[in-house]
Amino acid sequence: ISSVELTQQFLDRLKSEDGKYNSFITISDEQALAEAKAADEMRAAGKATAWTGVPFAHKDIFCTNGVRTTCGSKMLENFVPPYDATVTANFKAAGAVCLGKTNMDEFAMGSSNESSFFGAVTNPWGDKRVPGGSSGGSAAAVAARLVPAATGTDTGGSIRQPAALCGITGLKPTYGRVSRYGMIAFASSLDQGGPMTRTAEDAALMMNVMAGFDPKDSTCIDREVPDYTATLNEPLKGLKIGLPKEYFSEQLSPAMEEQVRNAVREYEKLGATVKEVSLPNAKLAIAAYYVIAPAEASANLSRFDGARYGYRCENPKDLMDMYTRTRAEGFGNEVKRRILVGSYALSAGYFDAYYLKAQKVRRLIQQDFINAFKEVDVMMSPVSPSPAFVQGEKTTDPVTMYLEDVFTIAINLAGIPAMSVPAGFVDGLPVGLQIIGDYFSEARLLNAAHQFQ
Ligand code: GLN
Repeated sequence: ISSVELTQQFLDRLKSEDGKYNSFITISDEQALAEAKAADEMRAAGKATAWTGVPFAHKDIFCTNGVRTTCGSKMLENFVPPYDATVTANFKAAGAVCLGKTNMDEFAMGSSNESSFFGAVTNPWGDKRVPGGSSGGSAAAVAARLVPAATGTDTGGSIRQPAALCGITGLKPTYGRVSRYGMIAFASSLDQGGPMTRTAEDAALMMNVMAGFDPKDSTCIDREVPDYTATLNEPLKGLKIGLPKEYFSEQLSPAMEEQVRNAVREYEKLGATVKEVSLPNAKLAIAAYYVIAPAEASANLSRFDGARYGYRCENPKDLMDMYTRTRAEGFGNEVKRRILVGSYALSAGYFDAYYLKAQKVRRLIQQDFINAFKEVDVMMSPVSPSPAFVQGEKTTDPVTMYLEDVFTIAINLAGIPAMSVPAGFVDGLPVGLQIIGDYFSEARLLNAAHQFQ
């Protein structure tokens, strides 16, 4: 079977099935078939890579040259980028075939995929259940087997939480491991792209394409990229696992806790040792994040003014009218809430009390992880406090929604990598095990995840 035939099969299936999930915003038939043709040529020329001809999808936050990139917003409803994100370019160079762009919370703000301008996504595991967010379209598409792999981004949990809620594997790499060039910015000091796949092995294959230095991203780190598949089969004997006691708190139901503890017991059978560790400042993570992330978002989103990108209001009276109406009409409620909070936190007179304070807390949180990793190799915890919840259940109360990320957010503040690995079911819905590692320990996390699967 040729790549073109395979791609056509996937496109047909995607079109007949995705009505149930709404996991795609754009299906890019024409470009996908052109990429498939190129893949067939690559193979014929003996230049195939592991990705040549493999269908996948990009979260609609990665710029794709000539293919609409919306970031889940009305603001970018008709935005067609004239260039590729580095991650996009890397997959193209490997010969992969992008079928389209997956649904997401608007500007990646959310934990349920309900803030998308293009409608909510439904979790394939349960009627009217959320897939998690913000990379909920990618998670649902992989879970429904519409694509074998998809990209995601994680600012506070947006790869790991939807992966957990949809029963797939997701990895948030170390900050700086994957280029952010052409990845629409939410909170620049936290955003990181990563793989969303069925298995750790597939995630390793994605990392081989995604990771690496990029001179176009000033925060990207120039450090050798290992072959992430090379160490998947290393034995885990002697692996030191830490269980952060703050992550096994009242916030966690006994049923959720049991699944995580069962998974940890499996690791003990594989020869790992387990001890309790402490992250004393973890409880401050949500509060610090909801100052830092909105502050950065308010600055990043100032570029959407009707002059440079995307949406512009009709018949503006003057420049001020154009700015205000464009932004009032183009952004959804959650995005507006973040811009307001962020602008407030950064305003003169409040900067020291909020933003600066949050940055100091961030440093303490980072130090907690550095200390804990002197004692253990990896840490394990739940990913989210509960399995997939019912659509609409948390939309009226932003704070309950924010608490979805109580176990994932500190990791972004510290900049370290972490994975979500399928680890059983609660009430018939999948739950995830979070495996947290020290800086640049992605290969070890993938190894640990692979041995468990
Ligand atoms: N749920 C968090 C938020 O709404 C994290 C989102 C993300 O990681 N992009 O900000």
